[in-house]
Amino acid sequence: MGVNEVLGGKVGVITGDDVLKLFTYAREKKFAIPAINVTSSSTVVAALEAARDSKSPIILQTSQGGAAYFAGKGVSNTDQYASIQGAIAGAHYIRSIAPAYGIPVVLHTDHCAKKLLPWLDGMLDADEAYFKQHGEPLWSSHMIDLSEEPKDENIATTAKYLKRVAPMKQWLEMEIGITGGEEDGVNNEDVDNASLYTQPEDIYEVYSALVAISPYFSIAAAFGNVHGVYKPGNVKLHPELLGKHQAYTKEKIGAKEDKPLFLVFHGGSGSSKEEFAAGISHGVIKVNLDTDLQWAYLTGIRDYVLNKKEYIMSQVGNPDGDDKPNKKYFDPRVWVREGEKTMTTRVKEALVDFNTAGQL
Ligand SMILES: [Zn+2]
Repeated sequence: MGVNEVLGGKVGVITGDDVLKLFTYAREKKFAIPAINVTSSSTVVAALEAARDSKSPIILQTSQGGAAYFAGKGVSNTDQYASIQGAIAGAHYIRSIAPAYGIPVVLHTDHCAKKLLPWLDGMLDADEAYFKQHGEPLWSSHMIDLSEEPKDENIATTAKYLKRVAPMKQWLEMEIGITGGEEDGVNNEDVDNASLYTQPEDIYEVYSALVAISPYFSIAAAFGNVHGVYKPGNVKLHPELLGKHQAYTKEKIGAKEDKPLFLVFHGGSGSSKEEFAAGISHGVIKVNLDTDLQWAYLTGIRDYVLNKKEYIMSQVGNPDGDDKPNKKYFDPRVWVREGEKTMTTRVKEALVDFNTAGQL
């Protein structure tokens, strides 16, 4: 048994029951699928190549800022225009190219805070239009993140959105408790300590409100995790808290299975293999990884530029001769590719760390 059997050999972007089947299987087999933030066709193919070579499923996601970048920094983002159009363009690109890699892909969007809800609304309009034509939404899933709002508002608004997406069997990820650090312009570096650790009662409250609407949801619970990479010792992760959430909800609902919740680990960059393993053993099925991949993508290009410096200072003329052409050194397919290679290597490492490699 493997993911291919579970999904009946489906490749490319999967939605609805297939996403539920994949996450259920991951929870059982104790692996978590890395969610890679993509901002361009180049980062998309780097992630797909790693997943294909590692025989793994993968999650590709765009943040609100990443989606605007997909549209081009020159497009105005008034009323989230660039973020909506860029997200749609990225989704169609991924939908068309993913089958070429022969692996299942979950197409997702990252944090959507209250002030960004018009972005989510715009994407859901596109989902509903796509659903009318194809019988499935454009994206497999979205994230709504109202963790900075009062708990009641967070749950009520998340429930409202889950009602909207339920007819499409679209997955919704929500967050309760706060992921520390800084990402995409949202700065949580100074939030109080208690909100960095979600309590089991809060998780159960979310679960019971949402499960009444649809089974297609996951919870990003805070257990001391942060976005970004900081000095060692600044972050105190408590992945065992996730086990308490599972046990509490199981007892409340009298579930047969030990892990009724689908949990998401945000801020994976900089965490140890042991911390990942602990989280995954407690039902984490998705780990977000961004900062480490931004770094990995840079290193290939940085080293290329440093090592080939004398071949890229002019179009003609290098240490091999004053009349030697440099076209094969400055062609973007050469130097951008170096960033793709180092990013691919880092994604493969994550696939091993999260026990996803070889699960196809
Ligand atoms: Zn996050």
